[in-house]
Amino acid sequence: MADRTLRVCALYPDLMNIYADRGNLLLLERRCAWRGIGFAVTAAGIGDAVDPDAHDLYYLGGGQDRDQMLCAQDLVEVKRDALHAAAARDAVLLAVCGGYQLLGHSYALGDEEIPGVGLVDLRTVRADGPRLIGNVAIEVDLPGLGGPRVLAGFENHGGRTRLGPGERPLGRVLRGHGNDGHSGHEGVRRGNVIGTYLHGPLLPKNAWFADWLIGRALGLAEPLDPLDDALEEAAHAGARRAAGV
Ligand code: GLN
Repeated sequence: MADRTLRVCALYPDLMNIYADRGNLLLLERRCAWRGIGFAVTAAGIGDAVDPDAHDLYYLGGGQDRDQMLCAQDLVEVKRDALHAAAARDAVLLAVCGGYQLLGHSYALGDEEIPGVGLVDLRTVRADGPRLIGNVAIEVDLPGLGGPRVLAGFENHGGRTRLGPGERPLGRVLRGHGNDGHSGHEGVRRGNVIGTYLHGPLLPKNAWFADWLIGRALGLAEPLDPLDDALEEAAHAGARRAAGV
């Protein structure tokens, strides 16, 4: 597999990096390197055009409302068409928390409304009431894995996200709040476009999910070679324990 390279586009890596979400990229890089798969990351900040054909995986981390506002305008004006084209050719698009909210139509905060890229049918509202904070575990059923698996992480969001009627969540909440605190839904998945509230960062606590993403992004028919995952499994078990699952 040495001639393969996972080509990643990191969207706004400086602004959208709450809870060290950029650590998700480090984990992808390590798991590729350990298997002899190349890894190339291109950063796309404010004002930078995105090439819809040049990357296998597009990544957008979480951010504070203020940073989200800065990115949202640029996302819509500069990058929207490219991201729609990338999604149409089945590139993987992974968005966490603040990034997840920007995948939808809008994020409403009081009188203000932050626009989203409209890749999925969802809306987020910053309602009155407490932030949704804590350890979280969800059950996900992803193609090619032969059965449900658990993702564990940490959430901290003021926004409540509602999926449109045709949209499916990434998973079912086992513990924690999820999209809005009562729907039982967490995240969204439409094909290879995935949004989730889980930080942790997400991938170091769920290495199996990182491998699933790498396989999807590279369009592999076979599972990736196994690695010695003793530490990764301990991290996953710890995150599950913290969530009470
Ligand atoms: N600013 C968003 C909210 O509070 C997202 C926060 C985050 O990325 N953790 O809902």
